[in-house]
Amino acid sequence: MTSVDDIKARVCEAIDRAADRITALSDDILRHPETGYKETRTSGVVVEQMKQLGLDPQTGLARTGVKGRLRGRSQGPTVAVVGELDSLIIPDHPFADPVTGAAHACGHNAQIASMIGAGIGLAEVSGELDGDVVLFAVPAEECIEVDWRLGLRDQGELHHTAGKAELIRAGHFDDVDLAMLTHAGPAMLPMGVGANANGSLVKRIRFHGRSAHAGAAPWAGVSAYKAATVAIAAIDAHREMFRDEDGVRVHHLITHAGDAVTAIPARTDMEMLIRARTIEGMKRASEQVDRALRGGALAMGADVEITTAVSFLPFSDDAALVEVLEPNGRALVGDGFVDLKDLAAGGSTDMGDLGSVMPVVQPIASCGTDAVAHGNAFYTKDHVAAAVLPAKVMAMTVVDLLVDGAARARKVLDAGGPKMTRQEFVDLHDSLSTDERFSGGGLSAEA
Ligand SMILES: [Zn+2]
Ligand SMILES: [Zn+2]
Repeated sequence: MTSVDDIKARVCEAIDRAADRITALSDDILRHPETGYKETRTSGVVVEQMKQLGLDPQTGLARTGVKGRLRGRSQGPTVAVVGELDSLIIPDHPFADPVTGAAHACGHNAQIASMIGAGIGLAEVSGELDGDVVLFAVPAEECIEVDWRLGLRDQGELHHTAGKAELIRAGHFDDVDLAMLTHAGPAMLPMGVGANANGSLVKRIRFHGRSAHAGAAPWAGVSAYKAATVAIAAIDAHREMFRDEDGVRVHHLITHAGDAVTAIPARTDMEMLIRARTIEGMKRASEQVDRALRGGALAMGADVEITTAVSFLPFSDDAALVEVLEPNGRALVGDGFVDLKDLAAGGSTDMGDLGSVMPVVQPIASCGTDAVAHGNAFYTKDHVAAAVLPAKVMAMTVVDLLVDGAARARKVLDAGGPKMTRQEFVDLHDSLSTDERFSGGGLSAEA
């Protein structure tokens, strides 16, 4: 009988033989960034890669997602290896698209390469596994271009700003039991696991005022812009009162300030992200922010429309999956494998959404720079560390999960306890999505 170690060795040999293909893929996507729900070229590249593996992928899932399935020798749990398709927008990034400003400043290019790399390894041995492997390229992890995405939602073309929630709602994860994805991290951490991440709510805000000649008759106007700046000052005042344990982060942009400098602005638009460790913390901070937004409108007599939606649920790695993955990481990077559970959880990811419906693990792997993620100097400098090693770690972990009647996958599923059903997930998202219009009272008064 073939040992697990023998299967893993063959998987790693296949990945090593394909190392040039994997690093070239990571580099190609780095040089062709596309933002969420617009990743058409990138999904086309994934389709080609999956076809080379002999798969017949499903395409156009949640607009741009691609899903391929490697069949095991018998039916059992299905493990997904996931990669995110999308980039950020960082126009001064060295690999930014000159037209759109899109840039892979979060290393998702390496995720797609590590997913395909894991597939290359697992394709060699899938006939010895007691369950299927799904390779899943997913859209729109970064919560950006909020107004555009909520506009698609208003037109009924989307339900969620984030890709994994959209895929879950549409049932595309119904035939998956466990999932993993390796995210890029700094060079000081060759590889690690166990990090948490905040959940987040997204807001689209529109202040309505009344225009008037800014020189000849400013008193006849109601400044939407001033209402927004008063609201921002009130949000900043609230930062003192956020609870430490909630780990709140609030970021906002004014995406439309006004139309003509000679007129009192009648419309000012903002978008905002509110992050916190728990759903209760997200709700508490959101209520504080809404009070500040209404306060800005009241102070100036403007109206404010506030649209709130979930961008991500809070994330943590599944402890039982970490146990399976960790020895594989240590086998590759030794003491360079780090326990990240004490790392501050400022960021967020829609792996939190996936983790609410199934056990998930998201190891972090060096992308070869200590520059800060989402900054203009962060990009994949070491494609081997960022894509080839993660491909091996994930493929070896899949082997551990699915050999011998998929005993370890079943153990992880039992240990994880009950997860949300798809309907419970949808209901939770819907319950946190609200629309409000508050009137500061000035627009109905005589000009
Ligand atoms: Zn990111
Ligand atoms: Zn990311």
